[in-house]
Amino acid sequence: MEGSGKSSTFEAFPVELKDYYRKLFGSEAEEIMASLRTPVEKYYIRVNTLKTSREKLMRILRREGLKPRRSPYLKEGIYFEREGPNFEDNYDPGLPVVRANKFASESVYQGAHLYAPGVLQANKGIKPGDEVEIRDPRGLLVGIGIARMSGKEMVVSTRGLAVEVTLPKFKLPSLNELESFKEGLFYAQSLPSMVTARVLEPSEEDLIIDMAAAPGGKTSHIAQLMQNRGEIIAIDKSRNRLRKMEEELNRLGVKNVKIIRMDARKLPELGIKADKILLDAPCTALGIRPKLWESRTPRDIKATAKYQRAFIWAAIKSLRKDGVLVYSTCTISLEENEANVKFMLEKGLKLEEQGLFIGSAGIGLEKVQRFYPNRHLTQGFFIAKLRKV
Ligand code: SAM
Repeated sequence: MEGSGKSSTFEAFPVELKDYYRKLFGSEAEEIMASLRTPVEKYYIRVNTLKTSREKLMRILRREGLKPRRSPYLKEGIYFEREGPNFEDNYDPGLPVVRANKFASESVYQGAHLYAPGVLQANKGIKPGDEVEIRDPRGLLVGIGIARMSGKEMVVSTRGLAVEVTLPKFKLPSLNELESFKEGLFYAQSLPSMVTARVLEPSEEDLIIDMAAAPGGKTSHIAQLMQNRGEIIAIDKSRNRLRKMEEELNRLGVKNVKIIRMDARKLPELGIKADKILLDAPCTALGIRPKLWESRTPRDIKATAKYQRAFIWAAIKSLRKDGVLVYSTCTISLEENEANVKFMLEKGLKLEEQGLFIGSAGIGLEKVQRFYPNRHLTQGFFIAKLRKV
């Protein structure tokens, strides 16, 4: 398919989902969908206060050539401004085409280089040193760069740099090669994710259960807020994600976490009564940015909301009287968010005020916090705090 299929005019959202959004968000729906297609405007990291302070880390990052800024909301928050868009949606540079899979395309779109495993097809005439354009499977231009392999090689190789990207559509900083990252001085984490651990208000004496914990972003934040004291039981069912989590906890120097691999819906079988539970539920992830295109539909929303209720049941049973449940998702549907909170209210939980509130109120529900990609320039996100009375 040499040089073919350059069209970037395709439906980024299934029609049923568009209709769903229009019904739920009214005239704001188009803006929300447009924001979801771009990376976040402010890219956040969390200072690991177990190892350093924000001031020290800012100095180190500046020395490493970056432009860190302080979050006005969180003293452990630092962000970097996104660069771009570097070209318009309809830009056609007319270069030989390298087509990347969706995952690799989303990375290039945010400024990463293209590696051979992500290449689907390439113009056979491409030689190392040639300038090429990178397109996603549907033809959207995600970046321009210099080929570091021949077209043939980049399709068959299972490793190595295929294209050094010189002009991505957007650019977020790449931080994983920094010394400060390897030393565990920070964790890349979205602003609403950080707000979630703050809303839980962990204290040093608490027994906390994190029911869907891997790869450990919120667990490690809770641990640092507890100064590595108290106890966190971190549960997840995914072996691979838990392996990643162990690596991350080691890198960050977290020591108060016990990891259990299990189906969190069976949590009551452990017979533990927790002071606080975080249920960062598996969800449809409709709020995650950027999305070159979305494939989920309202059917997925319904099925996922039902799945989440089993976790909610398990959480309620495993919470001590007067204990606190924080429920969060990285999705923007009603069923997975406010409707599930209403289910919790029917089961006797009470909504609590959130100590840090920088989003918007929920749809038809006060006290819960919604982050809108277009209004708050973050991922789409939802946080509720409840008490078992
Ligand atoms: N809290 C994590 C963080 O901040 O890094 C992200 C969690 S992610 C939103 C949801 C997690 O739920 C995934 O890691 C997934 O493996 C896990 N999960 C899905 N179904 C599960 C189940 N039945 N029991 C336990 N974990 C499950």
